Amino acid sequence: MIKIEKLTKSYPGASSPALNNVSLTIPQGEIFGILGRSGAGKSTLLRSLNLLERPSSGHIWIDGQDITALAPGQLRRQRQQMGMIFQHFNLLHSRTVAENIQLSLDIAGIPAARRRLRVVQLLERVGLADKANAWPSQLSGGQKQRVGIARALAAEPRYLLCDEATSALDPETTLAILDLLVELQQDLAITVVVITHDMAVVKRVCHGAALLDKGELIESGSLANIMANPRSSLRQLLIEDGETERIFMQKYSVGQTKCVA
Ligand code: ADP
Ligand code: MG
Repeated sequence: MIKIEKLTKSYPGASSPALNNVSLTIPQGEIFGILGRSGAGKSTLLRSLNLLERPSSGHIWIDGQDITALAPGQLRRQRQQMGMIFQHFNLLHSRTVAENIQLSLDIAGIPAARRRLRVVQLLERVGLADKANAWPSQLSGGQKQRVGIARALAAEPRYLLCDEATSALDPETTLAILDLLVELQQDLAITVVVITHDMAVVKRVCHGAALLDKGELIESGSLANIMANPRSSLRQLLIEDGETERIFMQKYSVGQTKCVA
């Protein structure tokens, strides 16, 4: 479980904080969405979860441990619990797919003798068994993101942090990657935190969500509770996004609510 307590982050020289007194709980074993406009503080929040950004104040508890209080050695181990994937995949273009993954295994301290087998297993896991020797430039966007996911899973993390992981992909590829995330969450019992500005992503895979605006937490909760609350801003955003509205409303038993097409 991730428990964020009164988290504030001010970047030097900025006129207002990127995150302002944000408290939020992300339940274990779920897919949790963090929504908000560009500049809302989503990436800052996600990067705080492995202390790539140091909070100005506040605490982050991961599995009962306050990570803001960890010594450097402990923090390195803690970071291995947090796999991360990105919008633009961040692959090394001068290395093959297998080498990209191998590097992460190396960093995670997996002994050399076990790396080759682990690469094969990870590539199978993400559906890229035949691409070990391909170069990133030879892959589609969806395939690149699959490599990103394989790499993020190298250290067998308990959490997968996804920063706009499907935002550079077409709708069909987005669905395939989302299905993969659901599969991983279920098979590996990991917790997945998904940053997105795409309501369709939330509707498709999230059990819970939070809305950020200008560094403030507007609301958070399970999708069931969000959908049951007529005054919820998140509910409003979700139902205004028309395309899959009917199915979504049925899923959450909202009944014959007016159609905001
Ligand atoms: P989002 O991911 O929701 O678009 P970010 O967390 O990237 O938002 O940014 C939140 C705010 O913090 C923005 O105003 C952004 O300009 C600012 N910001 C983000 N990263 C930095 C940084 N490294 N240095 C200074 N300001 C930053
Ligand atoms: Mg961002």
